[in-house]
Amino acid sequence: MRKKNIELKTGITAIDLITPSHHSKQGIDIYLPSCCVGVYALDPKTKKIDAILAKETILATGGVGEVYLHTTNPSDARGDGIAMAYRAGARIMNMEYIQFHPTALYVPGEKRFLISEALRGAGGARILNGNFQPFLSELAPRDVVSRAMFNEMLHSSADHLWLDISHQSKQWLMERFPAIYRTCLDKGFDLSQEPIPIVPAAHYNCGGIAVDLKGRTTLQRLRAIGEVSCTGLHGANRLASTSLLEGLVWAHTAAEEIWEGWKDRDDYFPPIEEWQMSSESVDPALIRQDWMTIKQTMWNYVGLIRDQSRLRRALKMLRELQWEIDSFYEKGEPTAELIGLRNGILTALLITQGAWRNRSSLGCHYRIS
Ligand SMILES: Cc1cc2nc3c(=O)[nH]c(=O)nc-3n(C[C@H](O)[C@H](O)[C@H](O)COP(=O)(O)OP(=O)(O)OC[C@H]3O[C@@H](n4cnc5c(N)ncnc54)[C@H](O)[C@@H]3O)c2cc1C
Repeated sequence: MRKKNIELKTGITAIDLITPSHHSKQGIDIYLPSCCVGVYALDPKTKKIDAILAKETILATGGVGEVYLHTTNPSDARGDGIAMAYRAGARIMNMEYIQFHPTALYVPGEKRFLISEALRGAGGARILNGNFQPFLSELAPRDVVSRAMFNEMLHSSADHLWLDISHQSKQWLMERFPAIYRTCLDKGFDLSQEPIPIVPAAHYNCGGIAVDLKGRTTLQRLRAIGEVSCTGLHGANRLASTSLLEGLVWAHTAAEEIWEGWKDRDDYFPPIEEWQMSSESVDPALIRQDWMTIKQTMWNYVGLIRDQSRLRRALKMLRELQWEIDSFYEKGEPTAELIGLRNGILTALLITQGAWRNRSSLGCHYRIS
């Protein structure tokens, strides 16, 4: 078996898939099937965009939560892989099925921190409204609890609700939930003494790039694994902890199949066009404001409870914004922030279009009209 050197490149941002449609050989135009031969990626240290060629490209860029005002996801979970695959012509599906987690710690200006549902399940914690009154059934499923919270916040104009487990002792909390107890304490909240501020938050994308059991997408030589993919495993509403199963199993079957066919693979790559660099600097105020518009629009109109008029508004606003973003993206110097914004607006639109087209409430997609 021939040894392969694997080079890890960290800190780079993939921008777009390389999908040549045709090439010329000895003066004859040869048209290629929809096929991916690598990615263009930005190295922020050199500020250069390189074409990274690959016999097989695998997208594993994670979730989409950053397009919402509140999310448990890391800050680069803005659907980059989904946006890249969509632009390249791959099939994207079930984008309207966004799962929200009911309890994330709410501290203005800071990232939301996930508070486990076990605090309610095992610890008897209660979710309270602005008057510190219980208003929902604690042990209902995630989507039902999150929707009740969203409605309560909407109708009382509250920024957040409360989670109260102060009937448990400090010792009990330290033994059962040490990380949560300490993190809350660091932020100034002692769970054993007082209710803590919470909001529901976008948590998981059940949809994504359509793949088969080997992670193959509808484009040749392009696979997707993990949260960026839609395997069908989650149906319309993911069960807790199944994402790790999806990540591991699909990564394994995809790698196995690639390895089996590796030695018979064609090493030929068609000539690749160099990236045309643009150089205008982009005002960071535009990027900041556009993100705020995306997050607020998605939260209020395409969040936990969707209806026709909210979705119509969202589509109109997001399409206009996409036009603006695309026009300064074309001229702007590529940075990770600009690339992320271009992907974020497309991801937001894909979710909204999915939610608009699908009029039936199912799982975590809930429409009242
Ligand atoms: C707070 C929290 C708790 C969770 N708890 C559980 C749990 O208990 N059990 C469970 O099963 N699941 C849980 N999940 C879900 C699960 O963790 C995720 O679905 C899973 O980690 C996704 O893995 P992934 O490899 O697909 O993506 P990630 O782990 O998100 O990795 C994506 C990677 O792609 C990189 N990337 C993104 N865009 C680009 C780009 N353009 N160019 C280059 N790199 C890029 C990112 O930097 C990141 O390194 C939890 C999620 C969160 C947020």
